[in-house]
Amino acid sequence: MIDTHAHIDTEAFAEDIEEVIARAKAVGVEHIVIPAIEPDAFDNLVALVDKYDMLYFGIGVHPHSADKFDDSVEQRIREIAKHPKCVAIGEIGLDYYYNELSAADVQKHAFRRQIEIAKELGKPIIVHNRDSDDDLIDILTEYQDGNLKAVLHCFPESKELLEKAIHLGFNVSFTGNITFKKSEHKEVLELVPLDRFMIETDSPYMAPVPNRGKRNEPSFVKEIAKKISEVKNMNYENILEQSTKNAKSFFKIMMLVMGIALFTQTTYAQRENSYNDKFYEDEGDYDKAPYPKFIGIGGFVGTNTIVESQVFTEDPNIPDRNISYEGISSYGGTITYGGIAEYLVLQVGYAYSKNTKVQEDTPGSLPNIHQLIEVSSLWIPNPHNKINVFGAIGPSFIMNSINGVENSQIGLNAGVGFIFNIPIKGAGLLNFAAEWRLNFDLAAVQSEVLVQPTPRVVTAIDSKSFYSIPRLNIIFYPDF
Ligand SMILES: [Zn+2]
Ligand SMILES: [Zn+2]
Repeated sequence: MIDTHAHIDTEAFAEDIEEVIARAKAVGVEHIVIPAIEPDAFDNLVALVDKYDMLYFGIGVHPHSADKFDDSVEQRIREIAKHPKCVAIGEIGLDYYYNELSAADVQKHAFRRQIEIAKELGKPIIVHNRDSDDDLIDILTEYQDGNLKAVLHCFPESKELLEKAIHLGFNVSFTGNITFKKSEHKEVLELVPLDRFMIETDSPYMAPVPNRGKRNEPSFVKEIAKKISEVKNMNYENILEQSTKNAKSFFKIMMLVMGIALFTQTTYAQRENSYNDKFYEDEGDYDKAPYPKFIGIGGFVGTNTIVESQVFTEDPNIPDRNISYEGISSYGGTITYGGIAEYLVLQVGYAYSKNTKVQEDTPGSLPNIHQLIEVSSLWIPNPHNKINVFGAIGPSFIMNSINGVENSQIGLNAGVGFIFNIPIKGAGLLNFAAEWRLNFDLAAVQSEVLVQPTPRVVTAIDSKSFYSIPRLNIIFYPDF
């Protein structure tokens, strides 16, 4: 579950933030989104989010602090929004209940400017609203051109507002007040579509029953899901699952989790003091490509599984079929070139497989010969490391001899694997690579199969093959 709105960067949590986060994790909260309130607290917010993996944040100026929004604050918002864990602009909006804090005009100005920032940066907005439904909807309608994503947080009891929000394509999120005895949220909760709601605590305010009146905290967010499941008469687990799914897609949290993993991994690998496992002896070599101007030469052995789909063109009474041959040995050679870019190695490979199993299936047939020429690009994310993952993709030229009939066609190859970089002082660099490479024909070719050995009867087919070849490569990059 995700608490999509909690101000745990505030004074109320200064003493025990560690325990608060631990309690949230203990009840199954995966992520917490902390919306910013006012510019003086921006740095503190970012520092907190940097400290805990599970935290994400929104950046922006709350309507209560709207009079602090100016050009320099706007500049800071734009800067901080580049942070990889910034998932939204917010919270922003209008609050006419507390309009002595910032006048309505000042609030509207800050709200508009921040919506413009969000649209420019392609980020969703977290919207605060109190006693300002009409102006709020007017402004949001004006900016909704299909590209504005918004959540109206701490959603009130208004069915009219819900209809407008849904019509504009927005999400809503519910907090502790839906659990209060006097709450009139029933209709809104019943009506809200399953793909449009999220849950939040708005900590430290609005603690849900049974903790009403206490300081609110993210671990209480489960009470919100419970209440929604009661009113909607749905399984609690389903409500949790659905609200989590909605929040992840709204804040793009899944993509971020992967992005951050990649980002940390690459920055770590590129940092100089992470080169303990470097494979160059000379300090000066670190900045160079890992395979500088290197040409490598090598060979591989593997095992080929071939699946051939056959369409009998001459005799339509024979049904189409797929034949597979497993465990056919395959071997070949490669030439590689690593002087183009740091993360990229170009490779031309040749793979040979002779399928004698076809003779067991149809006595009298000739063995099938498959020759693959793979032109591929190898993408290596951390080329300076001793152990690397890589992905390969490129076109293939495939030459087959099927029962003595030769044909050739264009195919595609793609693979994944590990490379082990082993430097040999004064001689060069040795690569071991364990790889799984696929090849497939892009178009069918005309071929034939033996139907009867004596007297010899063959029939024409259109065939298309798929080759799966796990293999072990050795490539040597001599130092010259
Ligand atoms: Zn709010
Ligand atoms: Zn808030």
